[in-house]
Amino acid sequence: MISRRHFFANAAVIGLCGPERWSALQRADPYALILGIAQDAGMPQVGCYVERCERARSRERPRYAASMALVYPDQDRYYLVDATPDITRQLDLLEEPGFRARADQRRPFDGIFLTHAHIGHYSGLAVLGREGLGMAPTPTYCTPAMADFLTNNGPWGLMVSEGRLDLRPVVSGEWNRIDDQLQARALLVPHRPEYSDTVGWVFRGPTQTILYLPDIDSWERWDLDVEDVVAAVDVALLDASFYSGDEVPGRNIEDLPHPLVPHSMDRLQGRVDAGDRVVFTHLNNTNPALFEDSREAAEVRRRGFEIATEGQRIPL
Ligand SMILES: [Zn+2]
Ligand SMILES: [Zn+2]
Repeated sequence: MISRRHFFANAAVIGLCGPERWSALQRADPYALILGIAQDAGMPQVGCYVERCERARSRERPRYAASMALVYPDQDRYYLVDATPDITRQLDLLEEPGFRARADQRRPFDGIFLTHAHIGHYSGLAVLGREGLGMAPTPTYCTPAMADFLTNNGPWGLMVSEGRLDLRPVVSGEWNRIDDQLQARALLVPHRPEYSDTVGWVFRGPTQTILYLPDIDSWERWDLDVEDVVAAVDVALLDASFYSGDEVPGRNIEDLPHPLVPHSMDRLQGRVDAGDRVVFTHLNNTNPALFEDSREAAEVRRRGFEIATEGQRIPL
């Protein structure tokens, strides 16, 4: 992996060796922090008392809606990727000492990246407004359609007019320089466009490039080839909403507007065998792979794919 190679290159230059130095160096390196891996409505889901949700209720480790942070510990710099209904508790996963001080000053983030206007991906912005954090003006990167949606609908419109959401519409496919160590590129994907269009984000940090694509209707309906997109990044975090068409009673496989996990693995097995990392996220509460001890999670691991976990760090 590039990160490992990069580390050893750095370690050679500055004369570090041994596992304790490993962690010392890693602590200073930028990383993506997984804040949640569940579908929009989280896990457990409201009013759902099936065994899987009950099990999630009793877990020590929480399951939150899919989201992540980009963390630059050296520079005390933080970015949020999607704002979920679980945001209040999710931010507790940010353990860098400087983060709480920044939140105290109402400036938790240097920027917010949004994928689309389905509830799991932006509704957490609400508690950053005047009834909650009272966030200072924060650059908010999204598509022009998403920016229009936020501007023209309450309560988001108030956050825009108050200047809290400093909207920065981006053009799909173009790289944007966010700061001296981060570039970001939005890629439009086909996904139910009730309120906005949808993008996946590609983040290029000092050591790795990470794709974050939590929602897509179908790999086959995308105008890009998912194999090519995955080949061009170091780590791909991808939509794993459903494992099988039997998960939702009364629905055909054709009705489930997401690629099923085994199909995604079939399409990307060659990339994984070639050394690319594919990490699944955005799992619906019906997806058995949410639990590490399930047969489905074991199959994902056996094939060389991964399932994201809350608190996981991926070098950036
Ligand atoms: Zn979603
Ligand atoms: Zn969606």
